[in-house]
Amino acid sequence: MHHSVGVLDLLNSQQYESLSPSVPIVSSQWSEDPSQTEHTPEDISAPKTKLLLSKAAQNALPVGENLLHRQVNDSVKCPYCDQDESVLHLLFKCPFAAKTWQLAPTTTTLSPLAIIDVKDGIRLANSLLCLPPTGLNAGPISPWIIWTIWTARNKLIFNKQKTSPEEAILLALVRAKEWQSAQSTLEKICSPTQPLIKPPIPMNALTCFTDAAWKDDGCAGLGWVFMNSQEQVSCEGSSCVLSVSSPLMAEAMATLAALCVAVESDLKTIQFASDSQMLVNALNGKLSSKELHGILYDILELSANLSFVSYSFIPRNFNRHADALAKEALNGLIIVT
Ligand SMILES: [Zn+2]
Repeated sequence: MHHSVGVLDLLNSQQYESLSPSVPIVSSQWSEDPSQTEHTPEDISAPKTKLLLSKAAQNALPVGENLLHRQVNDSVKCPYCDQDESVLHLLFKCPFAAKTWQLAPTTTTLSPLAIIDVKDGIRLANSLLCLPPTGLNAGPISPWIIWTIWTARNKLIFNKQKTSPEEAILLALVRAKEWQSAQSTLEKICSPTQPLIKPPIPMNALTCFTDAAWKDDGCAGLGWVFMNSQEQVSCEGSSCVLSVSSPLMAEAMATLAALCVAVESDLKTIQFASDSQMLVNALNGKLSSKELHGILYDILELSANLSFVSYSFIPRNFNRHADALAKEALNGLIIVT
């Protein structure tokens, strides 16, 4: 298994605070081009890239300019070119980003000069189509380019490791291909005929209750509560997201969010509990769900950081605490436009 960049990079770079109650995650607007409508972001990109794009679209990535606003850092300069570092600059205007976009093997080339704001840039980027030899015609490359620009920036700042635009575009293509092949691998993993092996639950395991509240406009509140074996709450949290395709997806996002918290807090043995029988079945490989493929991949990848993980069903009335947190997050949703 390859080294998990992605979500962990976000955690390492403190990006992950997006899942705290005070900072709602708001989805970006995607291409309205009718030819793209069959590929919604949920289908074609990993939820972790979706979270990143969401943060980018609401200008909430912890780049220099935003950090200065919040007075948590006095460095506001782009690590590449020493200009003020805004999300727009980082993802599109910086010479590093511009060169990376220019190298993308797409049918048309993105011209960063024409981009007026981040949402505009994401929309334009999402309409780029890969040229046939890349074998990526099934989905856009743009989420992976944005992801790579972001992680390259963090590598430069935190590890003093420089990535060239040529390396960046290769990484983006590799990640996009890995993602696509993971979809077919996952199809096999999630085959309902696979026998289920249940390891015993360790004595010191925490139980993490997760729940989601979903409205038919796509808004969702996510809630999670970690409890120790003495039934004391050791940690709880909530978040809200937009453009969530279904209640089932919202339940899965709650699990992913809680798993991120577990990894961030270095918790190693967790039994997750959800009142969604469908989600639990999907997580245990007893149900194949096309809708959940992407997020299941992220959950499986991230759970490799734990020494023990299990997913169990609990009746709804045992899940009131997480349910209340999810509802509270949904009701408190602030939509950033
Ligand atoms: Zn720059």
